[in-house]
Amino acid sequence: MADAEVRNENTGSKDFIRKIVEEDLASGKHTDIQTRFPPEPNGYLHIGHAKSICLNFGIAQEYGGKCNLRFDDTNPSKEEDEYVEAIQEDIEWLGFHWDKKFFASDYFDQLYEWAVQLIKDGKAYVCDQTGEEISQMRGDLTRPGVESPDRNRSVEENLDLFTRMKNGEFPDGSRTLRAKIDMASPNINMRDPVMYRILRATHHRTGDKWCIYPMYDFTHGQCDSIEKITHSICTLEFENHRPLYNWFCQNLGIYNPRQIEFARLNLTGTVMSKRLLLKLVNSGSVRGWDDPRMPTICGIRRRGYTPEAIRKFCRTIGVSKVDSCVDMALLEFHVREHLNAVAPRVMAVLRPLKVTITNWEPGKVDYLDAVNNPERPEDGTRQIPFSGELFIERDDFMEEPPKKFFRLAPGKEVRLRWGYFIKCEEVVKDANGNIIELKCTYDPETRGGQAPDGRKVKGTIHWVSAAHAVNAEVRLFPEPLLVKDEETGMADFNPRSEEVLTECKLEPALANVEPGYRCQFERLGYFCCDKDSIPGKPVFNSTVTLKDTWAKEQKKN
Ligand code: ATP
Ligand code: MG
Repeated sequence: MADAEVRNENTGSKDFIRKIVEEDLASGKHTDIQTRFPPEPNGYLHIGHAKSICLNFGIAQEYGGKCNLRFDDTNPSKEEDEYVEAIQEDIEWLGFHWDKKFFASDYFDQLYEWAVQLIKDGKAYVCDQTGEEISQMRGDLTRPGVESPDRNRSVEENLDLFTRMKNGEFPDGSRTLRAKIDMASPNINMRDPVMYRILRATHHRTGDKWCIYPMYDFTHGQCDSIEKITHSICTLEFENHRPLYNWFCQNLGIYNPRQIEFARLNLTGTVMSKRLLLKLVNSGSVRGWDDPRMPTICGIRRRGYTPEAIRKFCRTIGVSKVDSCVDMALLEFHVREHLNAVAPRVMAVLRPLKVTITNWEPGKVDYLDAVNNPERPEDGTRQIPFSGELFIERDDFMEEPPKKFFRLAPGKEVRLRWGYFIKCEEVVKDANGNIIELKCTYDPETRGGQAPDGRKVKGTIHWVSAAHAVNAEVRLFPEPLLVKDEETGMADFNPRSEEVLTECKLEPALANVEPGYRCQFERLGYFCCDKDSIPGKPVFNSTVTLKDTWAKEQKKN
């Protein structure tokens, strides 16, 4: 994906963050825009992160700036290299390229020096309270906090204790370094927040070098400052942290980037929290982080969503200061729209019913022309085999059809897509009365789908030649991943979110496609070849159905 192509998509209206950027460029406050995307490598990225990625990388691209990738790795017990690799893969797949790649841990020495500086300035102190005591003494929105008895330790004592914290002389959690700000501040984040904690955990990059780790608040702003970030874009929950972000930069006398908050993306029927997604993975409810039902980037990639569709979606939903929940149908709309333009059409029968053409010359195979994509004539045609034994969809036959059923029924005629008209002459059942086969006749004059006598059929159904069919497994995702438990009101895993069909029949062109291959199964929807495919038995995931519920909703409004 060329950068220019990504840039061309981004010509929509200006959100409040882009307006700020433009004002800053116009006023000369900044001449070069520098943003960053700062994931914590404690899980896989989800669609919410895609919004932040599109925003940070998008702004840099649109205004000729740069965007760094910075791993916010200050929490060694939860972070892993596996996640670092996966995050990079996902960003690249979305079509973005970072300028520089950093880790917050690259700055641990500098952060330590800055902590010492604040101690020397009388603005930080070592506190012997436990975590529990600290939160008890912090007060709440109606009561001010109570000052720690250690708050007025001398600079010398603080320097000595902090050095010994670093040297590993004290047990985990026994002491912290705190900023000396204001225990009565109406903003609880300003009530002497913890800057460093003692924690013996092997860090994915610095190993066992450190047994004290800086807190997010003592890390993020300074990292932004070092990297000369012009617009530090984050989600709304950090709005109350902004005064602290600024306090650290100002009291250290370093460049103070501007933090700007926007609302997180929420989507119906799913959850955007690495912690909750990890739970689904660990409980075995899903096939892993990349289960096609997961809202992770790797999950929707496996499902067949395209980066183009995700970028367009992110652009459409815009950026605001108000939390909201976006309908999953809007994301599906963009996926459908893109796949409609690019995906080849093929035929697949998911729940097969055998059809025997009784007047077909035994052993004969006819190769019929089929258009690959009516939206892209340049994609040409292919030939599909037609023979005396076919499969059609069980749903496309009814023994006693209601009035408006225009598909196959006893004595009725239907068009086979790209093929002939067939007429159902006999229904074959097993001992239990289940329909196991239809005996039909075909009209040789209707090859290609038109009757020379002008006779019309109302229905066209898809089919696959039995002798040529590729056996496949198809995974459908008929319901959302999560449903609300009526009693608790909590979002619960929905076991009906997946349906596996193992007897599917595909047209032969699909015998050797690679995982990641996307196509439209005619009349059914868009599908994507799964990595669980084995030679001779491909597995396909339902990407999105053909039905456009979102467009219908829009029309109603
Ligand atoms: P989670 O709650 O899923 O763990 P997080 O915010 O802890 O998410 P980070 O890795 O810290 O995850 O996030 C990296 C960046 O992505 C941050 O700037 C964060 O604000 C942004 N981000 C995370 N979730 C969303 C979301 N749902 N919508 C928009 N941006 C998000
Ligand atoms: Mg986080």
